[in-house]
Amino acid sequence: MVSILRCFQVLCLSWVILQLQIPLASAAAMQALTGWEPDRFVADLPTGDAKSLTVIKAGRMVDVETATVEENVTILVSGNRIQKVGKDVPIPAGATIIDLSRKTVLPGLIDCHTHITDENEPDPIVELQTTAADKVLHAIPAARRTLLAGFTSIRDVGTYRALIDVSLRNAIEKGWVDGPRMYVAGAYITSTEGGGAMAGFAPDIKLPEELRYGKADGPWEVRQRVRELAHRGVDFIKVIATGAVLTHGSNPNSVEFSEEELLAATDEARRFGLKVAAHAHATAGIKDAVNAGVASIEHGTFLDDECIALMKAKGTYLVADIYNEDYIQGDAQKNVIPKDFLEHDTGMGQAQRDNFRKAAKAGVKIAFGTDAGVFPHGTNAKQFPYMVRYGLTPMQAIQSATISAADLIGKANLIGSIKAGKLADLIAVDQDPLTHINELENVKFVMKDGRIYKNE
Ligand SMILES: [Zn+2]
Repeated sequence: MVSILRCFQVLCLSWVILQLQIPLASAAAMQALTGWEPDRFVADLPTGDAKSLTVIKAGRMVDVETATVEENVTILVSGNRIQKVGKDVPIPAGATIIDLSRKTVLPGLIDCHTHITDENEPDPIVELQTTAADKVLHAIPAARRTLLAGFTSIRDVGTYRALIDVSLRNAIEKGWVDGPRMYVAGAYITSTEGGGAMAGFAPDIKLPEELRYGKADGPWEVRQRVRELAHRGVDFIKVIATGAVLTHGSNPNSVEFSEEELLAATDEARRFGLKVAAHAHATAGIKDAVNAGVASIEHGTFLDDECIALMKAKGTYLVADIYNEDYIQGDAQKNVIPKDFLEHDTGMGQAQRDNFRKAAKAGVKIAFGTDAGVFPHGTNAKQFPYMVRYGLTPMQAIQSATISAADLIGKANLIGSIKAGKLADLIAVDQDPLTHINELENVKFVMKDGRIYKNE
C-alpha cells in the first residue's frame, strides 16, 4: 500500500493456539534431529501421489527466464515436480493428460507482500475483539482464494498476532488446508509505538506481550527479536524502518530505526540464513535500510534518485504496492478507513507510483507485492495493469511475480519458472496475458505441487 499493514504479534497462550503450535514444535525438533531444511520439507510434502504422472499440453507457454513465449509445449509432471519441458516430450503410458492447448500456461504467480491473516480490518482495535484462533480460521478461506486466483506462493510480510502465520504455513504444507506455499515473517520488528506497533489505545493501557511481540529498541533488542523469530521457524525478517499509513499515531515520513538497529537486523538475520525485508516510505529510511543490506524495500514511496542508484548498486529489490491506493480511497468513501489513516495516505499514492516508474526505468530489480489484506485476498492480480501503466512491459510485470519474486524469496531453485526439477506450480489463462495483462485476474487452471486445484 502506500499503506502498510500494521503489525502485531502474539504469544500464543491460549489453549487453541497451543494446539496450533504443536506442529511447529515437532518441525523444530525434526530440524534439530535430522538437519531438516525448509526446501526439503516443502519438496517432500505428501500433497500428491509421488508416482503420479501428468502431461500438460500447453498451447502457449510463457518462459519467464528467456522472456519468450513458446507454442505447443508439453510439460511432464511427476509427483510434485516438473520432470520435462519441450516440444518432443514422449507421453508415458498411464499419464493423465491435461489439455491446455487453447490456453497460455505460466509459472504459478508469487505475491511478495501479503498479510494473509489480516483482511479488511482497517483498525487494529479489531485485534482486541478477535481471538488468535478466529484470525487463523478467517485466514483459511483467504488462503484458498489466493491459491485459486493463481498465486501458488506468497511471502507474507507480517501479522498482528505473532506466529499465527507460521501455523498457517505449516497447516498448508501438511495438506490440512488449501492455500499458497507461504514464506512468513512471524512478526513485525518495530520500535516502541512504531509503524508496526498496535497503537491507538489510551496511554495507560498495556497490551499483552502477544500483541507487541516484535517491539525492539536498540541494536541488542533487535538482535534478540531476530534470534527468537529465527528459532520460531520464520522464513525471513520484516523490519519497520519508517512510519506507516495504517497505524494510529504513526507518520510515514518518520524514520523509526537507526542505522545501527537496521544493521543489527541484517547482520543477525544473516547468521540464521534469513533475508530482511524493510518497510520504508521515508527517503532517509529507505537509504538506511538499503545501506544496511536489506533484501527488499517494501512500499518505497519516497525513493529519490540516490535511493535508486543505491538500490541498483546493491541489488536491492523494490516491492511497491501500487494498486491498493485505489482500493483504500474507494473504501474511504464508505467510511471504513479511519480518518487519520487517510490523512497519512494523502499524496502518497501518486508519489509512490511516480517513483515506481522512475525505479523501473532505471532498472531497479522489482518483485510483485500488493499488500493484499488491505484489499480482499484473491484479487492480488489487480496490480498487474498498474505495473504496466507505470513503466513495466507485460513480460516484466509477469517476471516480477515469478522468477524475480522467487529470487527475492531465495527459492529460485524451486519456484518461479517452468523448468525441469522445479516444483510443479503452473497456471493457465484463456487470452494472451502479454497483450491482455488483465487476463491474469481470470486464471482458469491452477496446479500447485503437482496437484490440480482448479481446471475450468
Ligand atoms: Zn504490508
